Amino acid sequence: MLFDGELITKSIAEKLDQQDELNKYRNEFYIPKGSIYLDGNSLGLLSKRSEEALLVMLESWKKLGIDGWTEAEEPWFHLSERLGEMTAPLIGAKAEEVISTGSTTMNLHQILATYFKPDAKRNKIIVDELNFPTDIYAIKSQLRLHGLNSEEHLVNIKSLNGHLLSEEDIVAQMTEEVAMVILSGVLYRSGQIIDMEYITKSAHKQGILVAFDLCHSIGSVEHELDKWDVDFAFWCTYKHLNGGPGSVGGLYINERHFGAEPGLAGWFGSDKSKQFDLEHSMTRAMHAGALQTGTPHVLSAAPLLGSLSIFEEVGMKRIREKSLQLTEFMTKLIDQELHNFSFVNRTPIEPSKRGGHIFVEHKEAARICKSLKEHGVIPDFRAPNGIRFAPVALYNSFTDVWDAIQIMKEIMTEEKFKHFENNRDVIA
Ligand SMILES: *Cc1c(COP(=O)(O)O)cnc(C)c1O
Repeated sequence: MLFDGELITKSIAEKLDQQDELNKYRNEFYIPKGSIYLDGNSLGLLSKRSEEALLVMLESWKKLGIDGWTEAEEPWFHLSERLGEMTAPLIGAKAEEVISTGSTTMNLHQILATYFKPDAKRNKIIVDELNFPTDIYAIKSQLRLHGLNSEEHLVNIKSLNGHLLSEEDIVAQMTEEVAMVILSGVLYRSGQIIDMEYITKSAHKQGILVAFDLCHSIGSVEHELDKWDVDFAFWCTYKHLNGGPGSVGGLYINERHFGAEPGLAGWFGSDKSKQFDLEHSMTRAMHAGALQTGTPHVLSAAPLLGSLSIFEEVGMKRIREKSLQLTEFMTKLIDQELHNFSFVNRTPIEPSKRGGHIFVEHKEAARICKSLKEHGVIPDFRAPNGIRFAPVALYNSFTDVWDAIQIMKEIMTEEKFKHFENNRDVIA
């Protein structure tokens, strides 16, 4: 541990910032004026490189019209594959196993439509009670399309305490009736990292396929999907990858699954050399790109060119190292400064189990968040009583964390949160 036993002071935060090799990247981002932004796990901030990439894309449309498909600096026709190639190192995958397409929800639908083939014996899907609702809605609707009901065919793993999952409990449910396991790499509330390698190895011993939702893990923790032998993964790019609101999502298909007939087919899943033959029988691409559907959302993908170039330059190892220091720093400060105010920190302490954010609970959480925002600290509230803070390696500093916790202490000491009602806003 970094700060064992020492009383943490502002000068320690400043010293850590001076020693921090990644501190200079903060200047590459637009940080909303007057704020300490700690919500990068809901919506990452705009970088200058992303802005530039989007403007370049607009310029190519302006100058080239239709010819942008082949003549733009990053030709639109190949953009999804190009972004897949840039994303692959973040998750330990080969370029052709990754494609930029769709959204988290749509990509999960596509994985299920293509690879979930229930039969009389194997027809169940393992999920957990802590997953994000959209994943569960998608899975239930896919079961319905197969005429299967969720009460019988969805195996819902109970958590230990409403916050953490035990991998042993998950493995214990891996029977021969289970076709697929679908879990998050990092849980969206507690930030627990699931042991993806252990889950995958255990599932494969039982002939079960594994898909991971990487929404909260991509860009915040390291992955070795190929080495772990994961079957499928899917994610959004507007959280730690800073792609912008609604930016295009991503899909990983292990190469051993290439060549399957896409469940939801469309012409952009074609072999590119055949696509414009415009035949009514599709010649599918023999890589992850086969799972694309229609024309890519070029303008919603463009910012990723800029953002991923930062990840390429810095590398996940350094990002993860700083992220762990920031979350440890924050954990210690919460203990040191807020111990009188009955916050309960639900985040795993162990570094190997801790993702890129901190999750604390308090019965006044909704109005504490409103008061924090009024004081320039941007957290995010999770009903009924949770607060998430994501100190992001690329644009937050140790001083940000120090200042945010001091503001929080003041709000609690002076009971400033009582100026607000304790309920959630429409988006929270
Ligand atoms: C953010 C998030 C999503 C979002 O799905 P979209 O299709 O991008 O709206 C899904 N699952 C998890 C676990 C998430 O954290």
